[in-house]
Amino acid sequence: MAYVDDVLKSVERRNPGQPEFMQTVTEVLDSIRPVVERNPAYQDAAILERITEPERVVMFRVPWMDDGGKIQVNRGMRVQFNSAIGPYKGGLRFHPTVYLGIIKFLGFEQIFKNALTTLPMGGGKGGTDFDPKGKSDNEVMRFCQSFMTELQRHIGPDTDVPAGDIGVGGREIGFMYGQYRRLRNEVTGVLTGKGLKWGGSLVRTEATGYGLTYIVEEMLKDIGESVEGKTVAMSGSGNVATYAVEKIHQLGGKVVTVSDSNGWIHDADGIKLDFLKELKEVKRARIKEYAEEVKSAKYAEAGSGDNVWTVPCDIAMPNATQNELNGDDAKTLIKNGVKAVGEGANMPCTPEAVEAFLEAKVLFSPAKAANAGGVATSGLEMCQNSMRMSWSFEETDAKLKGIMQSIHTQCKEAAEEYGCPGNFVAGANIAGFIKVADAMVAQGLV
Ligand code: NDP
Repeated sequence: MAYVDDVLKSVERRNPGQPEFMQTVTEVLDSIRPVVERNPAYQDAAILERITEPERVVMFRVPWMDDGGKIQVNRGMRVQFNSAIGPYKGGLRFHPTVYLGIIKFLGFEQIFKNALTTLPMGGGKGGTDFDPKGKSDNEVMRFCQSFMTELQRHIGPDTDVPAGDIGVGGREIGFMYGQYRRLRNEVTGVLTGKGLKWGGSLVRTEATGYGLTYIVEEMLKDIGESVEGKTVAMSGSGNVATYAVEKIHQLGGKVVTVSDSNGWIHDADGIKLDFLKELKEVKRARIKEYAEEVKSAKYAEAGSGDNVWTVPCDIAMPNATQNELNGDDAKTLIKNGVKAVGEGANMPCTPEAVEAFLEAKVLFSPAKAANAGGVATSGLEMCQNSMRMSWSFEETDAKLKGIMQSIHTQCKEAAEEYGCPGNFVAGANIAGFIKVADAMVAQGLV
């Protein structure tokens, strides 16, 4: 369709050197071609031109002092992409690879993911090229305080509510929240992922991994199967991976691989969750140490040939980072009989990998749907903060499960309605897009 092609060309011209952003825009716009064709009102209102342009981008200097007394400078940013259906919502990523193109890709994805959650949240994302790895707690605190000193001008409980992402867990959220409270003299739900004693929600820590498992369970249910008895290969060993392992084991499946950026382990007996949590959440150590302690496990360095996707499995869950599972990995997984793939990380499968899975009729839940449990539970945290009360673990977990089931239904129904049954990539993009686009049309030219 000429309209979509023209917008894609224009986005490419106006955002040079941002391949990850271009990758997600291309995927979404390709999926919604039939929707735009059926609804000329979207073209009349220039929805595609507007939805691909962030409402606001803030970029700022973050100066801080290391333990040696030396001044360090990092770059902070927040992309406030779309607030048509609610306050901007999306995580903060602290990783040396962060630059504007990564944050824009994540912010753009977030618009549609948040729309799918059924909760009123717009899309945003932020971060910095600061690397918390190898830094002392005091260094991380000084960095977080400096970062929030600027960010606090641009966020607020009714404006923009950041959360964690890669490199930002409970420790970092705590330091940033403390600084916000101090500077603004207010106690509000301005960040999610807070500690349970100071406004956090039960299940937020577990939410992304649990939600991912719930949606994979839903896909399997459609073909009369379940997670029980299935072997699972996954990457990552951070927040998403850890709680996906927990939920899979609770449902009777067995996770046999995890990884970090240095290497990966294969434990044919099943990942020892308590040991993994101690290693990653408490000691902040490398995954290599798992194999040094657990006799049933083997370790291999990253890039040394095989990877987690060469281990035969029924379910694959890429839970580390973008573009970590390529076309060749997908072919290996398919050859080994994979039945279902759930994207725990954001855009972890390359376009070639996604195509291979769809072609082979592997059940495939894209990140926008599969990892939406994290932001959905952040939405539940915002709700509890506004009411100044908190729900039990069971109540919150039941709400999360209900949301994941609803997301799967939306993806399935949208895919069917637009002529591509079983294609949940298209389904997620279409369902998320229609909700936001309709809100934009209704609200006029803003
Ligand atoms: P964590 O920082 O807790 O863990 C990230 C994991 O991925 C670590 O094991 C890390 O290894 C590995 N990793 C990160 N970058 C790379 C890389 N470039 N190459 C190889 N491995 C890498 O992050 P999360 O678990 O929170 O996030 C993982 C993914 O899930 C991200 O894509 C994030 O955007 C997405 N996500 C997270 C949500 C959440 O609620 N936390 C919600 C929705 C999506 P190492 O320690 O060596 O860096």
